[in-house]
Amino acid sequence: MVDDKSFRDVLGRWVTGVAVITTVWKDQVHGMTANAVMSVSLKPPLILISIDEKASMLAKVRAANNFAVSILSSEQKALSQHFAGQRQSKETVDFDWFMGWPVIKNALAYIACKVHDARQAGDHVLFLGEVEHLWARPGRPLIFYQGRYHALQDMEDKK
Ligand code: FAD
Repeated sequence: MVDDKSFRDVLGRWVTGVAVITTVWKDQVHGMTANAVMSVSLKPPLILISIDEKASMLAKVRAANNFAVSILSSEQKALSQHFAGQRQSKETVDFDWFMGWPVIKNALAYIACKVHDARQAGDHVLFLGEVEHLWARPGRPLIFYQGRYHALQDMEDKK
């Protein structure tokens, strides 16, 4: 029998980056912090995201049938907290536009996708995204480990 605490505790030992998923529905941009993002296939280029069935993002990605992933830099912890609903500020967020998709300004990388497939998986929905456009810049990623944010200390900056 697997209890919630053990599940979170053990899976929290898997180090991830942090991203903000964005989409537009009815002329409104919506963003959500996510670390369940993975590369799936090169031919065709597919990635996977996982959205909680309680998240308001779910209906928006389903309706828009597309989404963008902005991989956050080490300076963007506050934005991760904002898009996880953990900050009570009323701040407005400036989005950039990347090939028609809304993305987070000054993020490390952008991945713009059309939904290729969607599957219910327990209390989440998995979306396979077919990658239409990609972009990245040099810099340090924001890291998430055991429920906390970290930065890479010993990373050499790569062009
Ligand atoms: P809301 O709670 O409505 O929105 C989230 C926040 O974003 C709100 O504060 C809202 O004001 C703000 N926001 C949205 N759009 C805009 C806009 N256009 N301008 C300004 N602010 C805006 N959940 C998952 O389902 N999958 C994951 O992979 C995942 N990974 C996570 C990783 C980390 C590190 C953290 C901290 C959380 C993660 N979560 C994940 C939880 C998820 O981010 C939260 O549950 C989130 O609040 C769900 O968002 P929502 O779509 O319900 O939208």
